Amino acid sequence: MNKLSLNDLSLKSTRVLMRVDFNVPQNADGTVADDTRILGALKSIEYIREQGGKLILMSHLGRPKNVAKAKDDAERAEFEANNAKLHMDPIADNLREKVGGNVTKVNDIIGPEVEAAVAAMEDGDILVLENTRLNPGETANDPELSKALASLADVYVSDAFGAVHRAHASTQGVTEYIDQCAAGFLVEKEIAYFDTILNNPERPLAAILGGAKVSDKITVIDNLLELVDTLVIGGGMAYTFMKAQGYEIGDSLLDEPGLETAKAVMAKAAEKGVQLLLPVDNTAADDFSVDANTQVCKLGEIQPGWEGLDIGPETIELFKDAISKSKTVVWNGPLGVFELEPFAKGTRALGDLLAERDDITSVIGGGDTAAAVVKFGIADKMSHVSTGGGASLEMLEGKALPGIVSLTDKA
Ligand code: AMP
Repeated sequence: MNKLSLNDLSLKSTRVLMRVDFNVPQNADGTVADDTRILGALKSIEYIREQGGKLILMSHLGRPKNVAKAKDDAERAEFEANNAKLHMDPIADNLREKVGGNVTKVNDIIGPEVEAAVAAMEDGDILVLENTRLNPGETANDPELSKALASLADVYVSDAFGAVHRAHASTQGVTEYIDQCAAGFLVEKEIAYFDTILNNPERPLAAILGGAKVSDKITVIDNLLELVDTLVIGGGMAYTFMKAQGYEIGDSLLDEPGLETAKAVMAKAAEKGVQLLLPVDNTAADDFSVDANTQVCKLGEIQPGWEGLDIGPETIELFKDAISKSKTVVWNGPLGVFELEPFAKGTRALGDLLAERDDITSVIGGGDTAAAVVKFGIADKMSHVSTGGGASLEMLEGKALPGIVSLTDKA
């Protein structure tokens, strides 16, 4: 990547404003339920501390409501109750337990309290700002907010891969008012993996796509067809492809607007010489539940009243065979309803194959696919599990990400 790295910055006694992705799942009492994202940023955090920087951390958390836009008192009260649960205190507490030392939390992201806290920082201290999205200027990418954030620090670091596809004040706007804006270690690692897939993969390169809707993933499919040798499609979106070929799919998920897209994808794959693999059998159920009756149906045999919720045993072998011949695999979207055990077999089988094969570079897109490999206990056996669902999809779509583009180019 041709962008300034955290390694390039001189950090001693420097005020470092670092955007992290601490948008973590929380328990009912607010404590951190899953600290994967906090752990992801620890390498950069510890490095900045060791170098004697004064580290100011900022992140969004959840989806705060804009209280100024409440239409009446009742809605205002509802918005305020929602936002009261979205303070960064439990996250700062979790971080303090991990890194020790002086970790302080302030109740705003800009303003006198924050400025005073920054002025009081010693080398190696950490200051956690409040949830950036509690300020409506964040998502509006408000220049005044960006300037005020920039005035807190000497240098900026982006280590929030999960948020770099957003042009917000803390991810993009702020970079316009700070001279040195660098990528943190997590962002560098994420970009390096996706860059390899996009520009220099060891071949054969395969993509596994799943999940619910074709329409949501059309741009990514289109771009992947330019890159991959093999494209494997499973999950809910596969039924739209089957229907487009004239097969009965019973009550399986059908994305009507995606039918034409599916036909275009099949034509483009043939034209590009990409091996396109679709399910040849499915595990169908008479209900979307763990207690449903299930049966394996060959292509076109799913009856009304039944819906395909996983790929079938023959398809598992077909997909495993193609994937095992690959050297690089990128995976976005589960192959079935992996959240329900009876329909997790396909996703688990492909995950297990990648876990066993050290010679295949496996890159797992964030979101549901990352959740699946975590659930199966094989996340650490993948070459890379992305921390950004939306950002990794946009990378695979070939889009430029605003939070990356705006970092300082290397001299
Ligand atoms: P997406 O957000 O589009 O990646 O979709 C992920 C969701 O698709 C997961 O929650 C899966 O449970 C769901 N999914 C996967 N396969 C199927 C299927 N055959 N029918 C319905 N939903 C599915």
